Amino acid sequence: MENIVVTGIRGLPLIKAGDNIAAMICERVTIEDGDIVSIASTIYSKAEGYTKSLAEISPSPKAVRLGKLNGEDPRFVQAVLDASKDIIMEHPFILSELSFGHIGVRAGVDQSNIDDGMVIFLPPDPMAAAAKVRDEIRLITGKNVGVIITDTCGRSFRRGQTGHAIGWTGFTAIRDFRGDVDLFGHELKITEEAVVDEIAGFANFVMGESNNGVPAVLFHNCPPWTGHDNLYFTKDEDMTRRLLKENCPS
Ligand code: GDP
Ligand code: MN
Ligand code: MN
Repeated sequence: MENIVVTGIRGLPLIKAGDNIAAMICERVTIEDGDIVSIASTIYSKAEGYTKSLAEISPSPKAVRLGKLNGEDPRFVQAVLDASKDIIMEHPFILSELSFGHIGVRAGVDQSNIDDGMVIFLPPDPMAAAAKVRDEIRLITGKNVGVIITDTCGRSFRRGQTGHAIGWTGFTAIRDFRGDVDLFGHELKITEEAVVDEIAGFANFVMGESNNGVPAVLFHNCPPWTGHDNLYFTKDEDMTRRLLKENCPS
């Protein structure tokens, strides 16, 4: 098996609404069939115009209340509420579910890597976003790639943020090891590896969080896998969600 080659895609400008990020990526790296392109949601959202000026936002009474409670600009809180389908926890930060199933701190709304006074929303349909980038890359290069749209997220139980996949195409989110046998012949009964998050995590490491200017990462030679796409727990399965909801009334 060949080694996996990971390349941070350098030299991209500051992304503006209307930019074709797939074309900009294809100008800067050689893409081959089976490669995986991991893209920071932040540049996809900037290119698609999923941004807003705080000056345009008038906060509701709820946003004002939560702004006071959490020490945040009520207009920013309103942006978070607008991006949320369901609030799981209000304090010390808003944790909410988005319409595509992701649960995240402040609904993934960012104020970094964009002009002062602007916010960036996560793409409303990151699976469609990944498919759109894949289709563009195929049009330009004739190559079939996998695409992951990432965001940097916090997690339960551990300090520190890591990259997570919020949209993907070209492979399943999960590599399913159930039914496989280990080195000693024991059957694996539980293990479902969230491969998309592992790749997103490494991509996030290559990107960095601040002024690195590397919003996309190319993975070459990843071995294929099979599994399924049920990355998000259902409401019934998700014990953390249930316990938080029960204990953090809003
Ligand atoms: P997020 O994880 O999707 O919220 O994105 P981050 O704000 O953490 O940015 C990830 C990487 O992309 C970092 O290396 C940033 O410096 C870089 N980045 C963000 N926006 C742009 C941009 O418009 N152009 C370029 N070239 N890099 C950017
Ligand atoms: Mn982000
Ligand atoms: Mn990030």
